[in-house]
Amino acid sequence: MAAKSDKLVQFELNEPETVSAKLRVLFGRTRCELERLSGELGEAEYRGRQMFEALYRQRVTDLDAMTALPVEFRRKLSEAGYTVGAPKITQTFESQDGTERYLVELADGRTVETVWMPEGDGGEAGEDSDDEVNHRRATICVSSQVGCAVRCNFCFTAKLGLERHLTAGEIAGQVTAVLARHDATVGSARGQGNPDRINLVFMGMGEPFHNYENFMTAFHLLHEGAGIAASRMTVSTSGVVPGIEKFAQEDVRPRLAISLNAPNDAVRAEIMPITRKWPIADVMQALRKVNLTGRERLTFEYVLLGKVNDQLKDAEELAQLVKKSGLRAKVNLIVWNPGPGIAFDMPKPEDVLAFQMALRKAEVPAYIRKPRGLDIFAACGQLKRTVEAAG
Ligand code: SAH
Ligand code: SF4
Repeated sequence: MAAKSDKLVQFELNEPETVSAKLRVLFGRTRCELERLSGELGEAEYRGRQMFEALYRQRVTDLDAMTALPVEFRRKLSEAGYTVGAPKITQTFESQDGTERYLVELADGRTVETVWMPEGDGGEAGEDSDDEVNHRRATICVSSQVGCAVRCNFCFTAKLGLERHLTAGEIAGQVTAVLARHDATVGSARGQGNPDRINLVFMGMGEPFHNYENFMTAFHLLHEGAGIAASRMTVSTSGVVPGIEKFAQEDVRPRLAISLNAPNDAVRAEIMPITRKWPIADVMQALRKVNLTGRERLTFEYVLLGKVNDQLKDAEELAQLVKKSGLRAKVNLIVWNPGPGIAFDMPKPEDVLAFQMALRKAEVPAYIRKPRGLDIFAACGQLKRTVEAAG
């Protein structure tokens, strides 16, 4: 997509934001915005902070539950037409493996998908060695757009095309709705006992870096507001170079994953047309600008497609590519999840293991991501706004 039309798309797709402002929705507003609103309504600034706390930490769903605010102020908000307006879970599909897929309803009636995976997914969360029994562990997979404009031809979300961007509140609201459903405690809020080990992966529907500002605002709401550690969040991009460059400038940010999916441009361009715009070398160069902190590593995601990119020569080429990049990185291998209307083959189990071994032999850390919730269409790349796959 040319830069000019990108702008146009963003403008049109951000329309719902204006709609929620008109609807006077509070959920999704930043602390500054809430403080300003308090002032406008003739209240002290700290009332804004209390709203912030109530929305994201206490996860209230209506104004009456904002008990820190005086009744009078709550009435004033309500009379002025303000509502909490957080997205709601309207449908749940439960997998035999404990994974749950949700349809989350937005203000305009559209739905988006969010997934809860108990015990992580063996990839992003799999290296966490702390498995004290007192902590519940789970990973929440969050969507950033309704549909997606990147046309990766192995992915079901791609088939939807892009319907619209999600607002910051719609992105963060998926998380608070799921946390509330599981009554989960995150961060180190005092007096709430041992926090659960909840990881967030922005790997649901959509390309987060095509909706950069809203995505980053949602990240801050979840970090400062909900109290989720930045190191427990990972955003995945298909390789939008200007997005990676902007991301590299952020002071506080989640971890970064890149959907590489091929060992060279020729194979990648066939399965990810975005490669023609931003070849692998450009992506690597942008990644070098991201300052990795402490033990942080980048993640290269690699979807294994039978005979397309899953052979030993591919693993060897990938190992060289990662090593030559000089980046501190690991590879997360994802077995392609099949579905109707997409003509790829799953890789053979022995090829998957051989691929991992080849990477490890070349001293590239490699993990195999466990497929989760296949029976309810909740696995990677299966998210498509649909109710057909009722479990
Ligand atoms: N748009 C972003 C994040 C969402 S996709 C991105 O592409 O990075 C999250 C991951 O799911 C990506 O690594 C993608 O390559 C992978 N994926 C997509 N379709 C898949 C499928 N059918 N089976 C397995 N993984 C898939
Ligand atoms: Fe979009 Fe990611 Fe699917 Fe590609 S893999 S179409 S970028 S959601």
